[in-house]
Amino acid sequence: MKKVIVIGAGIGGLAIGIRLQSRGYDVTIVEKNNIIGGHASRFTESGYTFDMGPTFLTALEVIDSLFKVVNKKVEDLLDLSSLDPFFRIFFKDNTSFDYSGDAEKMKIQMARFNQRDAGLYDDFLKNSKKIYDEIIGKGYGSLPFSNLSSMIKFLPKAIKLKLFKSNYGLTSSYFDDYRHRFIFSFHPLFIGGNPFRTSSIYSMMPYVEQSIGMWFVKNGMYNFINTLQNIFTDLGGKIITSFPVSKILINSKKVIGVMSDSNKMLADIVISNSDVSYTYSQLIDTEKSNRWNKDRIINSKYANSNFLIFLGVKKKYPKLLHHNIIFSQNYKDTMTDIFDKNILPQNFPIYINVPSITDPSMAPENCDSIYISTPVPNLKSNIDWNEFSRSFTNQIINYLETDFDLVGLRSNIVVEKVFSPLDFSQKRNSYLGSPWGLEPIIFQSAYFRPHNKSEDYENLYFVGAGTHPGASIPGVLMSAEATEKCIIKDNF
Ligand SMILES: Cc1cc2nc3c(=O)[nH]c(=O)nc-3n(C[C@H](O)[C@H](O)[C@H](O)COP(=O)(O)OP(=O)(O)OC[C@H]3O[C@@H](n4cnc5c(N)ncnc54)[C@H](O)[C@@H]3O)c2cc1C
Repeated sequence: MKKVIVIGAGIGGLAIGIRLQSRGYDVTIVEKNNIIGGHASRFTESGYTFDMGPTFLTALEVIDSLFKVVNKKVEDLLDLSSLDPFFRIFFKDNTSFDYSGDAEKMKIQMARFNQRDAGLYDDFLKNSKKIYDEIIGKGYGSLPFSNLSSMIKFLPKAIKLKLFKSNYGLTSSYFDDYRHRFIFSFHPLFIGGNPFRTSSIYSMMPYVEQSIGMWFVKNGMYNFINTLQNIFTDLGGKIITSFPVSKILINSKKVIGVMSDSNKMLADIVISNSDVSYTYSQLIDTEKSNRWNKDRIINSKYANSNFLIFLGVKKKYPKLLHHNIIFSQNYKDTMTDIFDKNILPQNFPIYINVPSITDPSMAPENCDSIYISTPVPNLKSNIDWNEFSRSFTNQIINYLETDFDLVGLRSNIVVEKVFSPLDFSQKRNSYLGSPWGLEPIIFQSAYFRPHNKSEDYENLYFVGAGTHPGASIPGVLMSAEATEKCIIKDNF
C-alpha cells in the first residue's frame, strides 16, 4: 500500500483523502489545529453555534461526484434546507432586492428599477448556463492544467465564451441599473476576486444558484465536515490533529515525508492542503525551487482578506433573512481600495449571515447567531489588526445599530468574537492572511495557477483553494479530483 500524507484537514485535504483511501492508498491527514475543517471550522459558546467560513452549499453535483466514491448521493448523507430567497440585498438608497431562484419574482423586482434590464434577465441567465455547461459540464473544473498545451487548447473556448471580459464588464453589457450590475456580479467576492477584473467565468453562478439552489446543512455547515470525516475514517483513513508540519522532507528533489517539531513521518506521496505560497515559502527551502521560488511567491498578486465578527444576540431582527448583503456605495472605488491600494474603503460591503433563522438549533430560543463579514485588504496593507480590530468592530456594530436600524444590537450581545486577517495568517497559515490564495484573475488561473502536481518536486502534490480551479467548496472539491488524476497518471 502506498503511504500518503496530506498536510491539512481542510475540505480539499479531506476530499483527496477520501478519493485516495477509497482506491487503496494508506492515507494519513495531519492537521495543525485541534479541530479539522480549516476555513470551514466552527465554535460554540453559551448555546450559540457559529460556522466560521462557508455558509451555503450549491453545485451539489460536485459533492455528488465525491460521494459517488462510496456509492452515496448528497441526499443519503446530508440533511439540507433550501434557502430561497438566497440573499436580501440592501442598497444605501433604502431600496432592497430579494435575490432568488424564481425567475418571475426576479423580473418583477428588476422591473421596479429598470424595465429593459428585467427584459434581459432571461438572456443573461442563458449565457450564464452556457458558461456553466461549457466549463463545469465539460469537466474543465477538475482538469489539471499541468502543461501549456492544455491551456492553448482551452483558449478558443475562452475567447468564444468571452471569458477575457471581467465579471462586472459582462454583467454591465446586459444591465444598466447599478443595483442589477451589483446583484449579478458580486459572486467573485466570495472567493477573493475583484468583480472588476475576475473573469466573466464567474457569471455562471446565477445559473448555478437558480438551477441547483442554495442549501444550508441542518445543525450547521460543519456537519458537512463531519460527514467528510466519517466517510474518510470509515474507509480506514487516519486523521492526526495538533500536528503542525514544520518541514517537508526532500531528498534530492524527491519528497519523502514531513516533520513536525517532535515527529518525523515518511511517505511515498505528500499532498499539501495548506496554502501553496505558505507551503513553498515555509515548509520547503525555496532556494531550491525553480518555478515557485521566492521572487515568484512575493511578486504574485494575492486575493483580499476578510474581517469576521460573530455575535450571539438575545434578540431577533425580522428585517434580516438567512443571507443579507449591504451594498457599498462606489462599488469600483471600494474594490480598488481593497485590492489595489490596500486600504480600508470608506464604504465597504457587509455580509450578514443569520443561520438560526433557518435552523433554530444554532442559537438559544428567541435569539440569533449572527456572522458578519466584510472584505478587507490582505496583510500587504499596514493595518495593525492587533490594534485596529476593536475599533473596526465598534465601527461596524455602530453602523448596523444606527444607520441600518438593528435597534439595540449592542446591548443585546451575549457572545462577541472576531477573526481578522492576522488570524487567517496565524491560525490557518494563509499567506498574507488571504483565505483564497492567489487572486483569481485570468493570468493566475488554470495553467497559470499553482499546479495540482508540484512543478518543482517529485512526489509532492497540492489540493485546495490555492490550486486549480480555486476557492469555494465546489472549487476545492474539483481540485481534489484534479489532484487525484495527476497521482493516477503518475502511476502511483
Ligand atoms: C469567511 C469565508 C466564507 C466562505 N463562504 C463560502 C461559502 O459560503 N460557500 C463556499 O462554497 N465557499 C465558501 N468559502 C470558501 C471555502 O470555504 C474555502 O475555499 C475552502 O473551505 C478552502 O478549503 P481548502 O481545502 O483549500 O483548505 P483550508 O480550509 O485552507 O484548510 C487548510 C488546512 O491546512 C491546515 N494547515 C495549514 N498549515 C499546516 C501545517 N503546517 N501543518 C498541518 N496543517 C496545516 C490548516 O489549519 C487548515 O485546516 C468561504 C471561505 C471563507 C474564509
